[in-house]
This record gives sequence, structure tokens and C-alpha cells, in this order.
Amino acid sequence: MAVPQGTVPVLILREGTRREKGRGAQENNIAAACAIADAVRTSLGPRGMDKMLVDSMGDVTVTNDGFKILKDLDVDHPAAKMMVEVAKTQDQECGDGTTSAVVLAGELLAKAEDLIDQQVHPTVIVNGYRQAAAKAQEILESRTEAVDRADKTTLLRIAETAMGTKAVRAHAAFLGDIACRAVQAVAQRRGDGWHVDEDDIQVVKRPGGDAKDTALVEGVVLDKERVHAGMPPRVDNPRIALLNAALEVKKTEVSAEIRIRDPAQMRAFIQEEENILRRFVDAIKAAGANVVVCQKGIDDLAQHFLAKEGIYAVRRAKESDMKKLAKATGARIVSDIRELTAGELGAAKEVYEDKIGDDKMTFVTGCKNPRAVSILLRGGTAQVVDEMERSLEDAISVAAVAVEDGRYVYGGGAIQMELVAGLREHAASVGGREQLAVEAFANALEVIPRTLSENAGMDPIDVLIALRQAHKEGKRSFGVDPFAMKAADMARLGVVEPARVPKQTLASATDAAAMILRIDDVIASKAPEAKGKGGEPGGMPPPGEFE
Ligand code: ADP
Ligand code: MG
Repeated sequence: MAVPQGTVPVLILREGTRREKGRGAQENNIAAACAIADAVRTSLGPRGMDKMLVDSMGDVTVTNDGFKILKDLDVDHPAAKMMVEVAKTQDQECGDGTTSAVVLAGELLAKAEDLIDQQVHPTVIVNGYRQAAAKAQEILESRTEAVDRADKTTLLRIAETAMGTKAVRAHAAFLGDIACRAVQAVAQRRGDGWHVDEDDIQVVKRPGGDAKDTALVEGVVLDKERVHAGMPPRVDNPRIALLNAALEVKKTEVSAEIRIRDPAQMRAFIQEEENILRRFVDAIKAAGANVVVCQKGIDDLAQHFLAKEGIYAVRRAKESDMKKLAKATGARIVSDIRELTAGELGAAKEVYEDKIGDDKMTFVTGCKNPRAVSILLRGGTAQVVDEMERSLEDAISVAAVAVEDGRYVYGGGAIQMELVAGLREHAASVGGREQLAVEAFANALEVIPRTLSENAGMDPIDVLIALRQAHKEGKRSFGVDPFAMKAADMARLGVVEPARVPKQTLASATDAAAMILRIDDVIASKAPEAKGKGGEPGGMPPPGEFE
């Protein structure tokens, strides 16, 4: 870009930099963000559709998880990327509500576009939106209900609602129950409330079998069998050693040649190797361990010695599993076998091998720390198990969030309709042009019940009229029932979600919309040549057109 100064142009941006200003930049950004919202819209709610994603390697994913869809989309436009960030934040904060957040952000922008067309300045819209969002949070807080860790019925409903929108909905009750039990097991007292560390819940996937074979195991499950058939298949009251060292004779770094001329020398050489391995096993035995989980390899001969001592051993365990085991059993991971003492060993009730499908796995149960649970996921194919895992993670997250916050709200668009009603009333007191923005914000919130009904093939106008009327009459829990195809009482249907989900949806959608609206200048550096992706990102005109 060149700034004329006298006759000599002064270059301030690198050659090839593209720049777009004013209304054009805004229109482009809004269009890109809305395109992202449209991409996930049809997957919202229990009657939403799934998406099939095929990556560059040809791997197929079938999902309706908003975050997963957006994560896998290779979006290029900067405003579209900001929408992907919305889904990411939502996923990190509550693990659910990703589609809703993106759809709401898109609708806020679409409504803002109308206002811009009516000559309302973007800054005024952003101010109005921020005010409306703050008021909406206040109203939301006043519409929450209480739930606590012991309230299994409500927690189960919350988990079932999250799973009911996914392909696994047929097993929502069964899997939801597992998710709730896992969360209840790992919840820890913190101050007056509870804290749930989702890392304490390990999900182990095993394609094959039936979803109904999915089980909650109180302890850690390793995707490994014992290394030698001569080892005991089960050890009661195990003393567990965690090793981050190979039970092998070290190979030399450089290749060396040793000439042996005498058979006695050969024997001595082999004997020495044997002695080293023998000493390893003796050290383990001396420490009192009868179970060894090794992160590295175990030599055949060492396996034989271990088996002779009646020690159960597993090799090449994952680092993450080692950490889980350390936490669960109280063992310390030792990287030098000579340092192994009784003090480093961990405890559990039993360690045993079990066959799941075609593979054998090691179960460490009745751990010293009761807050270690694993969910062994089974189901048709690898894709089904992957989608089950995502849904189960949603269920675990919502149950965890509900236990931590202790507040829930009615779903199916019921909470949004309450906010719409409250905000419309509030708008009257705002005045000025900001009032238009507050009203637009309220209208935008209707996108949730509207989309839920559209995806079920219902007439959204009829539903919205019925819902507005119901909420006017104080029926706070009325929302969309996509199965009966009418407005219905969500309290009766048990469609509930943790308050944090709609709260976070509001916050992240407002932030994204505000951020996108405030941009009136897009300056894009020249992309590196090597990238070679065809086309200009997100409708930006080719370089040169701004001059
Ligand atoms: P998200 O990624 O936003 O969680 P979902 O596809 O899970 O998207 O849909 C969530 C929406 O569906 C929420 O508004 C929730 O209240 C609603 N919902 C879930 N189950 C039901 C149901 N059985 N009836 C009506 N609405 C439901
Ligand atoms: Mg959901």
C-alpha cells in the first residue's frame, strides 16, 4: 500500500499485503461468521442431523458435536476462525453447548447487520449487546434451580439431555448413569462445594461388542496383557512397582565387534547378560513387588525370571497410564531399578487380566485412592465408539459442572424464552438507539427454540407464538418438544442442563459478535507462496484492488 507524499510514494505495508476497510470488511466478516453458524445449525438438538467429515487422509468421522465439526473444518477466513474459537472456549468451559454458542453468535451478527443497514453505528450495537448480555445473565441466575452431588435423579436427567442430542441417544439412560456414577465417585469436597477433576475419569475405548457392554470400573484399566503366560493371571493385594526403565541389557550406542575365540568366553558373555537381568528381577523381588508396570520393554529372559517369581508384569505402558496408576495406587514412578524400595510401591485390592473382545486387558481395581475410575467403552465400530466417547465426555462434563455449580435450568429453549421475555421488558427502560440493540439481542436468543423446531420439521412461527404466550403466563419451563412436535413442559420431560452451559453460551457468543462487529479494517499479510491453497481467503479481493 502506498501513501502519496509529494511525488514519492511511501510504502508502509509489505508488498502483497491485502487490506479491506469500512463497510466492506464488516460485511465480509459477518457473512463468513454466519456461514460457520449455518454449517452447524442443522445439527442442533435431539432431532439435529449428523455430519460426515472426511479428512485429507480419507478418515471418516460421523458426528453432530459442534466443536468437533468446526475443529475439523479447515477454515481460512479470520472471522470464521473466531467462530471456531467460540466453540473451543465453550467446550473448555462446559464441554457442551458448542453448537448453541456458534448458532447464537451467528444470529447476533445477522441481527446486527440489520441494524447497521438502519444506520446504527456498530459501537452502539456493541454497547447495547453488552448491556443486554449483562441483564440476561442476571435474569438467567434468577431462573436457576438447585441440584447437589447426591441428587442422582436430576444429575441423570442432565446427563441424559446432553446425550439425547447425539447418535447414542438410544443408550442415553444407560451411559448417562455410568457418567453420573463416575462423576459422583471422583467428586472431592472443596470448601462448601465440590470439585470434579475430569482427568480422574479414564475412558478406554474398545471397538467391538455392544454399547450395553460398556462398564464402569473402579480403578485403572490398561490396554495391555501380562507379558508371559507363566505369570499369575490375578494377584490379590498387589504391591505395584511402576518402572520407567527397560528390563533389558542396554545395546551399545556405537556398533562394536567383539571377537570370541573360545566357547568358554561365549558362555561367560551370555552368562553376564543373564546376570544383569537376574539382578533386575532380584531388585524387584527384594522391594517386595508382585506386580510390575513397565513403561519400556522387558527382555524375554527377564519375563521368564519374573514369571518364575510369580510376578505379574506389563510392558510398554503409556505415560498417561503410568501417571494415572501413580495417582490411583500411590506408587512412585522409578527410573532406576536400583532405587526401588518398598516405599515406592503402590497398593490396590487386585490386579487381573481379563479378555475384552479379542484383546486382553489389565485391570487394577480397589485402588488406594478411591477417586480413580475408568469407563470401558464398547460399541459396534471404531467410528461409533469415537462418537460414543464424545457424547460420554459431554455427559461427564455436564454432570461435573452441575455438581460443581449446583444450579441447573430448563432446556429445549425454555431458558432462552425466559431471557427473551425479561430482556424485552428491560429494553423499554434503556431508551435511545441502544434500545434497538437490546431488542435485537432478545430476538436473536429466539434462534435456539426456532432452530430446535426447524430441525424437527415443525413450523417455528407457531411454536414461538405458543412459547411466548406460555412464558407470559409464567410457565417458565415451557420449551420445544421436538418429538411430540409442540411446545411442552420441559420440567415434566426432564430436559435440563447445568446453568453454566447457557451462561457460557451467552458470554462467548456475545464476545465473539462484539469482537467481529468492532473490526472495520482487515489487514492480511501475504500468505507464504509454498502454501499453494487455491483462492483468496474468505472473499477478500485479490491484491491490487485496494490501490
Ligand atoms: P450443543 O452443542 O449446543 O449442546 P446439541 O445438539 O446438544 O447442541 O443441542 C442442545 C440443545 O438441545 C439445547 O438447547 C437443549 O436444551 C436441547 N435439547 C436437548 N434435548 C432435548 C429434548 N429432549 N427436547 C428438547 N430440547 C432438547
Ligand atoms: Mg449438547
